[in-house]
Amino acid sequence: MGCLSKFAHKSEKNGYVARFNSLKNIPVYYKSNLDSKIDSYLVSVCLAENLDDDIKPIIELFEKNKIIVDSPEYDEMVFEAIQQSIDDPYISIMYLILTEKCNFNCSYCFIERNMDQNKTNVLTETTAKQAIDFFVKQINKNKDHFEDEKTIIFYGGEPLLNYNVLIYAANIIKKYIFEGKLPQKTTMDLITNGSFITEEKASELRDLGIQISISLDGATKKANSCRVFHDGTLAYDSIIKGMRCLQKTKTPFGLSITLSEHALEEKDKIYSFIEENEIPAIGYNILNTDKNFKVKDGYLMKQVNL
Ligand code: SF4
Repeated sequence: MGCLSKFAHKSEKNGYVARFNSLKNIPVYYKSNLDSKIDSYLVSVCLAENLDDDIKPIIELFEKNKIIVDSPEYDEMVFEAIQQSIDDPYISIMYLILTEKCNFNCSYCFIERNMDQNKTNVLTETTAKQAIDFFVKQINKNKDHFEDEKTIIFYGGEPLLNYNVLIYAANIIKKYIFEGKLPQKTTMDLITNGSFITEEKASELRDLGIQISISLDGATKKANSCRVFHDGTLAYDSIIKGMRCLQKTKTPFGLSITLSEHALEEKDKIYSFIEENEIPAIGYNILNTDKNFKVKDGYLMKQVNL
């Protein structure tokens, strides 16, 4: 005799049901046609003697994997034990959203789509300082992890649209590292579409030690056809122009490559581009389908073969 754990969950797909306890995460699978019989058993008092042969092994697995527990008190006891075994959470990453605006209008962009077009938030110097001070306060709460690596990411929209606040924030961060308010292992990352990078900006970002990541979909205009300005013209040339300024000023940078469907068709060109331009770091992003943006069937399988 027992009861259904309050952490038990059920999911059904393609004629099969999976039940699991979310504190244990070991699922038990069975055919959907047995589910109503199992449901009736679970809402009863779970008396094992009343079990039919077809569901008996399943119920035994439920007991083994704690989908059925001895009592509600057992659930509470396990939950408390797990809570006590978890360290206090600590923060190691902060995103500073410099602006929600972007000069691009990429067809897959979830930020542009979800933004209130009548209200664009832009980070001010005052809020940037408050955010950095808050981050400092939080990481100082946990002395054991203070020296662990910390990352501050300048993000947007397009963060370089708010360039002055970015430089202001980066200087505060550098000062705090020097004063020991932030650990030596604090890194500053910038994710940008690259179109506003000039040689002057590249040198300034390099001297501040900001790690730059340029978002690009692939090596050609075709691969970057989702990346357009608001008037619909292709943005590819402006990205490459920014990249050349980084190269000319010897500013290290990496690429954040969104695997658009066109980019996947030209994967060999991506490899050559990375090699020719001696890009030391790359990251890949996958496209997410939602009600406004769809990817073709088979898109995920193409990535597996990248
Ligand atoms: S550059 Fe980035 S933020 Fe701007 S529209 Fe494209 S995906 Fe969105």
